[in-house]
Amino acid sequence: MSRQPVCVACLKFMRCERNDVTVEETMQPPDPAQPHVSYRLWQADLWKCEDCGHQVITGFGRGPSSEMHQQTHDENRKRAVVARTERGFYTVRESS
Ligand SMILES: [Zn+2]
Repeated sequence: MSRQPVCVACLKFMRCERNDVTVEETMQPPDPAQPHVSYRLWQADLWKCEDCGHQVITGFGRGPSSEMHQQTHDENRKRAVVARTERGFYTVRESS
């Protein structure tokens, strides 16, 4: 069986629209009044259903490409934002 994602609405395999997008994972600081902060960066693939246009991000690497505890994280994040187009950098808030 293919590892391609399937669009449930259309019951068709999705197409990989872009490899190696950057996904930023954020986290809530201990003080809930504070805004989410950058936690980790991941490389993944963007898939799209050609019929309905629904998109998903999947195919994450084995580990993050950058983490907040690393001294270079802020620089890695800025470089990723600049290097990716607006369609290649995604910030994802942790679910609460
Ligand atoms: Zn679809």
